[in-house]
Amino acid sequence: MCGIVAYIGPRQAQDVIIKGLKRLEYRGYDSTGIALMNGGLNVYKKKGKVSELEKSLNGFDLNSHIGMGHTRWATHGEPNDENAHPHYSATKKLAIIHNGIIENYSSLKEDLERKGHTFQSETDTEVFIHFIEDIYENEKCSLDEAVRLALTKVIGAYAIVVMSLDNSELLIAARKGSPLVVGVGKGEYFMASDATPIIEYTNEVIYLNDYEMAIINKGELTIKNTENLPLTPYIQTVDMELEAIEKGGFDHYMLKEIFEQPRSIKDCMRGRLDSASGRLILGGLREYVNTLVNADRILIVACGTSWHAGLVAEYFFEEYCRIPVEVEYASEFRYRNPVIREGDVIIAISQSGETADTLAAIEMAKSKGAIIFGVCNVVGSSIPRATHAGAYTHAGPEIGVASTKAFTAQLIVLNMIALIVAQQKGTIPQQKFLELLIEMENIPEKVEIVLKHNDKIRDIAAKFIDTNNFLYLGRGYNFPVALEGALKLKEISYIHAEGYPAAEMKHGPIALIDEAMPVVFIATKDSSYEKIVSNIQEVKARKGKVISIITEGDTLIPTMSDHVIEVPKTIESLMPLVSVIPLQLLSYHIAVMRDCNVDQPRNLAKSVTVE
Ligand code: GLU
Repeated sequence: MCGIVAYIGPRQAQDVIIKGLKRLEYRGYDSTGIALMNGGLNVYKKKGKVSELEKSLNGFDLNSHIGMGHTRWATHGEPNDENAHPHYSATKKLAIIHNGIIENYSSLKEDLERKGHTFQSETDTEVFIHFIEDIYENEKCSLDEAVRLALTKVIGAYAIVVMSLDNSELLIAARKGSPLVVGVGKGEYFMASDATPIIEYTNEVIYLNDYEMAIINKGELTIKNTENLPLTPYIQTVDMELEAIEKGGFDHYMLKEIFEQPRSIKDCMRGRLDSASGRLILGGLREYVNTLVNADRILIVACGTSWHAGLVAEYFFEEYCRIPVEVEYASEFRYRNPVIREGDVIIAISQSGETADTLAAIEMAKSKGAIIFGVCNVVGSSIPRATHAGAYTHAGPEIGVASTKAFTAQLIVLNMIALIVAQQKGTIPQQKFLELLIEMENIPEKVEIVLKHNDKIRDIAAKFIDTNNFLYLGRGYNFPVALEGALKLKEISYIHAEGYPAAEMKHGPIALIDEAMPVVFIATKDSSYEKIVSNIQEVKARKGKVISIITEGDTLIPTMSDHVIEVPKTIESLMPLVSVIPLQLLSYHIAVMRDCNVDQPRNLAKSVTVE
């Protein structure tokens, strides 16, 4: 995920672009760059925020009426000056900005290297523009045709804009899987990842669809698709406030991020998992995968929501790989002189990659000789740099303080790691392995189905806004989900909530139950279904209010619950990906109705960089 802006018209392009990039910084902010046609096709780019690029531009003559800019959220190659966009082609006659991932970039790169191409960056994007130029030179066609041909050969997701030194009146854009809006002004055009950089100048916009291209040449706009069929542009009028557009029309970033999960889960698997060919690859793991396969024990260290993802991963690794796992709070682990033996492997999980306690735990374990894997969302952050190997979650920037899409992406990555290890170790039958791959590909659609219950969940939430306490109960794979549901509620609504393994209820929490105590059961149909049904009855017998998350079509639990929320059936180990969604929505709505600041809850920070 990143932000892109382009402009062509009578204004100073850099003013429009820099301002636009600032509005898009919520989409990514690890590096920034701009390309202008000021006496040549010039690229200025830098690690860091837009304001840093802006400072570095002082003193240059930037007079240009065409240009494009990018604020990056790295996927391929760490955030540094070289990897920042725009990227030049081999001859430097073309430049590109790109939001997305080109999955087949390594095979394209090998071909191009054979032809003598050299690359300045580690990005997939630079390969893409070299590839376009290669076609342009070989086919002797127009540049937009070369872009089109290239698009038919790349696999992955993109929103791109291309500029050419040979034509200072040409911008070529295209999209598949990443957003792109074209703004139509009087004698000027804008392009951006969303409408925020545009609406200050015009509210007439065209939302490009997948496989569509927009070509602006000498003041004329043409829209066509990648099959070369011309399309009539559908111009819409936007009348949304700036802030609402940044949040994609949602009231809060948290809600936007909850609703983004079908996409973020897909992005996390993109280029890594393909059930049709039975392919499952995590590039960042390759070199060290044997260390995991031969591990005597896995220690997972994390904090907060990531720790809950770690608990689910414990079940994955034990079930699929038969490797014993311990899940540790990083803050406890680092201070208690833990026993780390040869054959132990550490997996550190952190959304930001900057969590101070997790980082310190890694350093400590490293000093004892352990091999460390990282699972992080922010590319190039401290934890990926401190670990031996790892995999990114590619969920895109998470802005809401309460983690949602990062959690589900962590589950996907951890599940993929466990499956790769299990396959290599021979502890999972091939049939089961394939079933899991197929079902993982179905998860985005199943999450989409759960999101459709949003209104119903809001109605349930309305009944509990004056509650002081909540209990969340689950068993097996749904036990960590109970913990995560309780944490979400505490964080943003300030209601006291506890998550417990359902069977533990009898050892204490049952004393809390009376008619004022809501109990959320994550009671999907799995191997402990009968047991959890008994637990629900125990709560009902004490007049507790029961909200149950159930599998679609279950007719028994609704008879003993005050409220039910259905989720689609899936394989037991993947259920947390689906069953956590209603809990995210429930806490969101309760918090909103209690007038809490959902995106910035009191006393909390997005990334905990102090211990
Ligand atoms: N894959 C590209 C990169 O790593 C683009 C990432 C983005 O969307 O910001 O540079």
